[in-house]
Amino acid sequence: MTVDQNPHGRVRLDSIALAMQRVRRFTRFRLAPAVYSETRPVEVSAWVVGGEPVPFDEARGQRFEPVEMGMPWGRPWDTVWFDVRGVAPTAWAPEETELVVDLGFTAEQPGFQAEATAYRPDGSIVKAIEPLNAWVPLPQHGPFRLLIEAAANPVVQVPHEYEPTLLGDLRTSGDEPHYTLRRIEVARRDIVVWELLQDVSALDGLVDVLPPDGMRRAAIVSALERMVDIMDPDDVPGTAAQGREALAPVLSTKAPAGALRVAAVGHAHIDCAWLWPTRETERKVARTFANVLDLIERDPEFVFAASSAQQYAWLKERQPGLYARVRDAVAAGRIRPVGGMWVESDTNMPGGEALARQFVLGKRFFLEEFGVESDEVWLPDSFGYTASLPQIATAAGARYFVTQKPSWNETNAIPYSTFLWEGIDGSRIFTHLPPAETYNSDLDGPDLARAERNFSEKGVAREVLGLFGWGDGGGGPTREMLAMAARKADLDGSPRVRLTDPTSFFTAAEAELPAPPVWVGEMYLELHRGALVSQQKTKRGNRHSEALLRQAELWAATAAILKGAAYPAAQLEDAWRTVLLQQFHDILPGTAIAWVHQDAEAGYARVESLLEELIETALAALTGDGDSDDEVPLAANAGPLAQHGVPAMGIGPAPVPAPAAPRAKDGAWVLEDDRLRVVVDDRGALVSIRDLVAGREVLPEGTAGGVLQLLRDTPREWDAWDINEEDQRSGRELLEPAWVRGDSDAVVVRHEIGKSAVDVRISVVDGHLDLAFDIDWQESQKLLKLAFPIDVRADRAASELQFGHLHRPIHRNTSWDTARFETVAHRWIHVGEPSWGVAIANDVVYGHDLRTIAAPSGRPMVMARLSLLRAPRYPDPSADQGRHSFTVSLRPGGIPEAVADGYRQHLPLRARHGAPVAPLVAVSNPAVVVEAVKLAEDGSGDLVLRLYEAHGDRSPAAVTTSVDWDAVEATDLLERPTGDSAVQRVEPRRVEVTLRPFELLTLRFRAPRAAA
Ligand SMILES: [Zn+2]
Repeated sequence: MTVDQNPHGRVRLDSIALAMQRVRRFTRFRLAPAVYSETRPVEVSAWVVGGEPVPFDEARGQRFEPVEMGMPWGRPWDTVWFDVRGVAPTAWAPEETELVVDLGFTAEQPGFQAEATAYRPDGSIVKAIEPLNAWVPLPQHGPFRLLIEAAANPVVQVPHEYEPTLLGDLRTSGDEPHYTLRRIEVARRDIVVWELLQDVSALDGLVDVLPPDGMRRAAIVSALERMVDIMDPDDVPGTAAQGREALAPVLSTKAPAGALRVAAVGHAHIDCAWLWPTRETERKVARTFANVLDLIERDPEFVFAASSAQQYAWLKERQPGLYARVRDAVAAGRIRPVGGMWVESDTNMPGGEALARQFVLGKRFFLEEFGVESDEVWLPDSFGYTASLPQIATAAGARYFVTQKPSWNETNAIPYSTFLWEGIDGSRIFTHLPPAETYNSDLDGPDLARAERNFSEKGVAREVLGLFGWGDGGGGPTREMLAMAARKADLDGSPRVRLTDPTSFFTAAEAELPAPPVWVGEMYLELHRGALVSQQKTKRGNRHSEALLRQAELWAATAAILKGAAYPAAQLEDAWRTVLLQQFHDILPGTAIAWVHQDAEAGYARVESLLEELIETALAALTGDGDSDDEVPLAANAGPLAQHGVPAMGIGPAPVPAPAAPRAKDGAWVLEDDRLRVVVDDRGALVSIRDLVAGREVLPEGTAGGVLQLLRDTPREWDAWDINEEDQRSGRELLEPAWVRGDSDAVVVRHEIGKSAVDVRISVVDGHLDLAFDIDWQESQKLLKLAFPIDVRADRAASELQFGHLHRPIHRNTSWDTARFETVAHRWIHVGEPSWGVAIANDVVYGHDLRTIAAPSGRPMVMARLSLLRAPRYPDPSADQGRHSFTVSLRPGGIPEAVADGYRQHLPLRARHGAPVAPLVAVSNPAVVVEAVKLAEDGSGDLVLRLYEAHGDRSPAAVTTSVDWDAVEATDLLERPTGDSAVQRVEPRRVEVTLRPFELLTLRFRAPRAAA
């Protein structure tokens, strides 16, 4: 609307704005209330669960007490069952007859609050009740009974407010009811009034997005006014048909031939956990599918896309009846399992093998349950996308990628909507960023106009994807959205909307864009950078579980093949499912309520105890029980590279070197072995790190390394999600320790900050510097970084990520470089000159920043920092409080040394007794790294090896095995043969491969079959 300010300060509206004020007031106060023309009361009784949810069968047998409307209900997270008995009048048509429920909803957001599920007395689900979808069909005339399971999910998030809240923890969420039961009654829906309301909604949504001076806008406003003129405000039902007639001419004006085409796919983004625990997600999934199944019967064109095998698995377990209907709908093509991943995971932090397993377990579930294989990757909401993903996705058989999250970037916009995305190894995947920039559309005018405005390939392409449906407990698509889509199938002033499925969209988009632009490297999210640091215990659980899974699979596969031990496939899959679930994009990033992170830590503890047991069983099978005292101490090396003479993936004698003993000198401590000399001063800072082999000093003159920095961390918004760079201007270095003292094999430093304490053990062993941190963290809104200035001239640095590493610029030439101020690395970072560099490895740090800045001398140096801890207050006010430990190591060297140090941190030697075991598999070239050793998913007993090229080079290698096999094949991630050209020559017990830089290769060794 156009607004002028007149000289007296009063807002003066133009004629169209005045007309629309009248139309909107009429719609809101006359039309909408007339949708339900008559009502009948019902009898309602209630049973308060007073705890965690119970199944239908348990609820049905409880004692229900009569209740009245106006009843307060819903202690946070509690469940109340309502028993509703009434009569559907015989005079009303079935499509008119509904139960209408208002649990005390707020109209401000479609989900994120109370919700309910309506059951028939036999326990089958009819439909869900959601804030903007609060009706239940009553198809039979006469008496009926429904049981309604109402979930008192509290409103944890008020949009764009980030007040610390106690609602996210069952122990602190309080006992006060949060809702008031407002309405449960049988109501008669006036279909003509309802259709008129949809007409008005479709047209009204165009008024504010059409060119203000254009003919079309004027015609629509004029028709809307005519509708108001014609209708009798005191008799809306009696005049609604005339109202529709008044709008018919503008609704039948067709879109021009060149209009944008929106492929509308029904969707409901359901976070596996976020402002609610996973147990509530299980119910949200059931509610959403119930709504979708109802809607499918109402519209033959409607297709619903749902990702996340985990969510289908929950439904199968919790609601088998509903699941059977979902399975039928999948078979009929009406529900499309999409994405092929176990969950919509974070992609920055999961390790390479874990990200591969997201696809393996997800696709296997869809194939086994539904016989379908999704061909797209579906990650609309993850916080940035790793440059490894194109290769992992294509290795899993995916052809397409969809996300909208890059539209959240604060600073720069990815310049394409439809493009090829190229990863670190050169793999490309056809990618679409829906230009409506939402996965929660209602297909209204503003969303579709935004799609047209933002579509970068317009002029050469016309196809965009539109994802519609309320997510996260909004219940998915609604009948109002389908009405909107129908009106916009061919409507002047709107893009053309057609209901379709994702594959049809991608096929059409690919066909019309034969030479798409290419985006190379990661899709860094210029927001939510703090998610690399928040909830450190959850992150530790993830990294530690990934390491345990590798060990358990390696030793169990080795024991199965060498000793005939049973392979614990089911237990391993169980552990993987937990770890993969907890890589969900609000769990591993640390952005969920306290309850979720408590669940996650308990999940990791279960995984740890299970995997430790599997590892112990397998190692005992391999080495014997090792009871006798005269056996030499052995070490099991689960890593892909030899350590201290213990072969990679083998078990052998381990002469583990001792750390250097500190000696005092000039008020400082010196730690020195034959390769490295380190000096720690009385501030606990490293003032020299000398590479004795190369004769070079790591630290620029006048600087100190290994210094902890305590920085302000008070984000503008999105507390657990965001770090703001301006906060880092305020902070201090911890250079006044409580003490520094020499121990037998380390220098020990203690810093005390308020109630927090940081203990650091500094040691030198085997040519590297180790810093072991033990931290009692009691801070609020502080960021703790560990800083190393490095005396190299470099304009880029390498960070390890899944199956390789990524070089990122470390200057600030462009707004893209500047915005990339906190970046992910897995086990190591490396910065260097061609002949010398420094690797910094860690056991559980993801957030890093590296910058070229001026050294005290004025010459450039590189400042490398690791982000250890935060303490955000929303959505979990207790986030990160308590004890934490970290190990960080530094050594001079190149990328190969960085890779080796990363694995040393990730997979330390494990002490054993008994007999040595030669590796099952050996690889001749350290650039070709084994990331996983396992038995095949199909239970055949075949050995599966996941390898990748780790140095960014073209690398030949011989893979040898200690046992025979019938054949070897290169396969995809699902272990299906691909005929990959990397396999060059096959001999008995030996395969020669040549890998391209960062190439991922899965080899399957067919087990010898017993002769028939
Ligand atoms: Zn999400």
